Amino acid sequence: RSPQPVSLVTGANRGIGLEVCGQLAALGHTVLLTARSLDAAEAAARRPAEGGRRSVHPLRLDVTDDADVERAAAEVADRYGRLDVLVNNAAVHYDTWQRAVTADLDVVREAAETNLYGPWRTVRAFAPLLRAGAHPRVVNVSSEAASLTNMGGGTPAYTASKAGLNALTRMLAAELRADGVLVNAVCPGWVATDMGGPGGRPVAAGARSVVWAATLPDSGPTGGFFRDGRPLPW
Ligand code: NDP
Repeated sequence: RSPQPVSLVTGANRGIGLEVCGQLAALGHTVLLTARSLDAAEAAARRPAEGGRRSVHPLRLDVTDDADVERAAAEVADRYGRLDVLVNNAAVHYDTWQRAVTADLDVVREAAETNLYGPWRTVRAFAPLLRAGAHPRVVNVSSEAASLTNMGGGTPAYTASKAGLNALTRMLAAELRADGVLVNAVCPGWVATDMGGPGGRPVAAGARSVVWAATLPDSGPTGGFFRDGRPLPW
């Protein structure tokens, strides 16, 4: 049994997910850097700083594909027999260009498929491995845009999908509490990535917000919504 925590990050070939992989590797985790294409995962796995790189392993995982998620879970079961940290980071469609009242429902469906059903799929597939993990943690990367107190319109597909993810977080936390799995939703803040655009804070700061929830002590919270370790309103 590998003594290091085994962590898996979705959508990790760029942006916040890639940086989360580097930060977890620097903390001594064995990191499965996943992307929807194996080529992209392999290229990204070469990027973390020397030292961290040896413990970052590429794996294909398209969160919209049932069979792919099941295959990835089977590979992790074969290699490690457990999973300690699952970071549901992959997301699409920050749809600043539309409004709820006229929204293109195909965009709404695509956002839900990746941002809500994606994490739901991975948790279903990896739950048995998480139950076998030491100090298991699930981090659902969400957004303050999904806070019901903050929903003033704009980005309707994205906001609805992340609000669904927040609801899923509460249910999973309640159901997995008895197994010692801590499940939290985290907003990374506004971060300068392809999705966030220029002007946001550095990727390292956004990733730290996520890594905080991935490395909580056993006495840490579950079923919460946080940014930088501080609670956000649902
Ligand atoms: P990016 O757009 O930079 O990266 C998104 C990642 O998700 C890419 O690696 C992309 O892969 C991947 N992805 C998309 N679809 C799939 C799929 N079907 N299967 C696997 N991977 C997929 O976004 P960020 O890094 O900015 O965002 C990361 C997380 O942080 C998201 O959950 C986002 O909603 C959240 N967030 C970001 C904020 C910001 O300001 N940046 C603010 C609040 C929340 P590919 O290269 O193949 O497209």
